[in-house]
Amino acid sequence: MELVLWHKIALTLGTAIGMEGVAWWAHKYVMHGWGWAWHKDHHEPHDNLFEKNDLYAVVFSILSMTLFLIGTFWVTPLFYVALGILIYGIVYTVFHDGLIHQRYPWKPVPKKGYFKRVVQAHKVHHAMINKDDCVSFGFVFALDPQKLHKKLMAMKAERQPSDAAPAE
Ligand SMILES: [Zn+2]
Ligand SMILES: [Zn+2]
Repeated sequence: MELVLWHKIALTLGTAIGMEGVAWWAHKYVMHGWGWAWHKDHHEPHDNLFEKNDLYAVVFSILSMTLFLIGTFWVTPLFYVALGILIYGIVYTVFHDGLIHQRYPWKPVPKKGYFKRVVQAHKVHHAMINKDDCVSFGFVFALDPQKLHKKLMAMKAERQPSDAAPAE
């Protein structure tokens, strides 16, 4: 089948948007699950330039590069899937490493609107350093930080009822 322009755009954009779901899932079930050993240092304060957690970005880059290769030589649609992953990767790093964690020389602090909400929602994710106590696993799609905070407090109370209402 010949790929026309709108196929290419749909594949690229669909993948880029879908990657937020993949990233959410991977963050919640892999990074906060069996892959916690690589993600743990991202939840702990430190002065190191790199984190073990950066290996996840490397894994996604290798996936994207592999798909670019397969897409270029054998299965053309995969080229646009790879492009979608690359675009999501760039948006992810600008948001997560730039805007939220201020790891780049360029350090803008969003004062209002959507960008502020994205930053605050992820800050609520970082309120806990324990792998099972976190909320808010998305990176681009962010819920209301106040609601997230409420959810976090409710989870905390459920886990440790003694903290919320001291036993007599
Ligand atoms: Zn996390
Ligand atoms: Zn983070």
